Amino acid sequence: MTGRVEGKVALVTGGASGIGRSCAERLAAEGATVVVTDVQDDKGADTVGQITQAGGRADYHRHDVTDEAAWENVLGAVRRAHGRLDILVNNAGIGIGGSVLEMSLTDWRRQTAVNLDGVFLGVKHGVPLMRASGDGGSIINMSSVAGLKGAPTLAGYCATKGGVRLFTKAVAMECANARDGIRVNSVHPGIIETPIWLSIVDPVNPGANAPPDLDAMAALGVPMGVKGYPADIANGVLWLASDESLYVTGAELVIDGGLSVR
Ligand code: NAP
Repeated sequence: MTGRVEGKVALVTGGASGIGRSCAERLAAEGATVVVTDVQDDKGADTVGQITQAGGRADYHRHDVTDEAAWENVLGAVRRAHGRLDILVNNAGIGIGGSVLEMSLTDWRRQTAVNLDGVFLGVKHGVPLMRASGDGGSIINMSSVAGLKGAPTLAGYCATKGGVRLFTKAVAMECANARDGIRVNSVHPGIIETPIWLSIVDPVNPGANAPPDLDAMAALGVPMGVKGYPADIANGVLWLASDESLYVTGAELVIDGGLSVR
C-alpha cells in the first residue's frame, strides 16, 4: 500500500517545532518528500534527522517567512532539488499576548509580519511553482480558533488569524477561477500543547503575567474537557494535503475539541 501523499513534495514553514514539526513528520510518514523550514536551525535539523531515521525523505532550510527574498531562495531550492511543489503548509506563527492598550506598534507589526505577511508571501511565491508543477496542489494556512472568535489579551493575534481565514478564502476563489487545481484551506486549532504558549499571558488570569495552565484552561473552556496535541492538527493537515480532500477549497477545518462551538 502506498502512502496517502506518496510522491508529493511538501513545504512546511515553522516545521521545526510543535504543530509544524508534527505535520512534517506525518506527511513524510505518508510518503511525501518534506522541506522543513524554520528559524530554529537546531530543532529543524533534529526534525529532519527524526524523519530520515524513520525512513522518510526531508531536508531543512533556514527561512524567515517575513523575508520575501528568503521565500524566493527556498522555493528556488525546492524547484532545483525536487522539480515541483504539491503541498504548502503556511504554519509559522508567533503569539504576543497582553492588553491591546499595552501592545507596542513594534510588537503588533512583528506579529502581523510573521502570521499574516508570511502567509501572503507563501501564497504569492508558492502558487507559481505549484502551477508550473501542473498537477494542482494544496495550500494549508494555519489560522486558529482565535481567527473565528475574539479572545481577551489576544487582540493582535486574533487580527492576524482572522486575516489568514479570509485571505485563504479569497485565494481559494482566485485559484478556482484560474482552474489551476490548487485548493486553499485554513486550519483552526484550539488549545494545543506546544511551546507557543510559553510566550502568551494567561487570558484567564492576566494579572499573574505567566503562561496559562493548558489543562486548567481546557477543563474550563473546551467542551471535551482536554487540550489537544500537535498530532491532532497534523492528522487534519494530512487529509487536506491528500487527494482525499480533492473537492474541498476555501474551507475552515476546526480542530478544537468543540472550543469554538460553546
Ligand atoms: P511553535 O511550537 O512555537 O512553532 C512555531 C515555529 O515557527 C517555531 O519554531 C518558531 O520559532 C517558528 N517561527 C517563528 N517566527 C518565524 C519566522 N519569522 N519564520 C519562520 N519560522 C518562524 O508553535 P505552534 O503552536 O506549533 O504554532 C504553529 C502554528 O499554529 C502557528 O501559526 C500558531 O499561531 C498556530 N496555532 C497554535 C495553537 C496552539 O494552541 N499551539 C492554536 C492555534 C493556532 P520561534 O520559536 O523562534 O518563534
